[in-house]
Amino acid sequence: MKKPKVFLSWRFPDPGPQLVMEHCETQVWEGQAPIERTQFLSVLADVDGTLVSNATEQLDRKAIDAAPRLRCISNFGVGYDNVDVPYATSRGIAVCNTPGVLTETTADHAFALLLAAARRIPEGIIHVKEDRWRGWNPWLLVGREVNGATLGIVGLGAIGTAVARRARGFGMSVLYWSRAPKPHEESETGAVYSSLQFLLQSSDFICITVALTPETRGLIGAREFALMKPAAILVNVARGPIVDRSALYDALHDGTIFGAALDVTDPEPLRGTDPLLTLPNLLIVPHTGSATDRTRSRMSELAARNLTAALCGERPLHIVNPEVLQI
Ligand code: NAP
Repeated sequence: MKKPKVFLSWRFPDPGPQLVMEHCETQVWEGQAPIERTQFLSVLADVDGTLVSNATEQLDRKAIDAAPRLRCISNFGVGYDNVDVPYATSRGIAVCNTPGVLTETTADHAFALLLAAARRIPEGIIHVKEDRWRGWNPWLLVGREVNGATLGIVGLGAIGTAVARRARGFGMSVLYWSRAPKPHEESETGAVYSSLQFLLQSSDFICITVALTPETRGLIGAREFALMKPAAILVNVARGPIVDRSALYDALHDGTIFGAALDVTDPEPLRGTDPLLTLPNLLIVPHTGSATDRTRSRMSELAARNLTAALCGERPLHIVNPEVLQI
């Protein structure tokens, strides 16, 4: 039987590529940078499936229209805001993702950012490296206390819940906002359901773990920053466009809040000339929330298994639009 044809938009870590190659005729983009959009569209013209990064490839209507044979979009990642899911569904294309395997790693990262921003670790490193350290003084790089503080989690999904579990170990009180209360997660983590307004007004740290959707785009804007405490620190490990970038700049520049730590930005990548990078109270890392060797390998395996299952008539382990399945 003829093997399905697939395109991998990166040389993803082992073991995904090998698993795909066992079942599919496979073309891999070997570049060190993302494939250029027009080239991506022309490759899509001739494939049955594709394994892509949700951070670099947009499967919008135009891309889907460029792929008449496409039957599966397998995302290397849990977020799927890079895919026009309703349109893919209308075309019968399975959209798959990799939840679960990156939850704990991304929660670790959120906590690393929270601690680094609170205790001003990046500023401390620069201070020492630039030979500005002239000895101990009681005012040097004084930050914010984490233990005993209140953490507000915006979106108590899998990652939000894992962040709440960590907060408990730090003796923090946890508030969360979701579309509805979550009794199971509350009893597991001690988190308390709150309106978004009360959470923003009451939290010392605010961690964004909500998915990017039309409803959550721009969820945190000037009005929301104005509600926050002047001592608040915002952490975003979800998606950049959930936070309005000019409101973020103003809030940090004007001292409306104390600081922010971002794993994700709008746009990505940020260029070195971006005004956000002039702010000393903003810490940014380049979308490395799931970047550990073990997690990347588990994501690779799951994304590959989703792709091959969808193309071989089996049920993928994680499918966003199961209604397209005939099985
Ligand atoms: P998840 O378990 O599916 O949780 C999704 C969260 O988004 C839930 O809290 C859910 O709300 C909320 N949500 C979904 N649609 C919404 C809507 N229309 N309006 C309001 N809230 C909505 O996903 P997860 O594994 O925790 O991942 C969460 C997000 O983190 C992903 O979507 C992704 O963008 C991001 N992420 C980033 C990295 C990174 O490298 N930085 C790594 C992994 C994931 P409810 O609580 O109301 O159900």
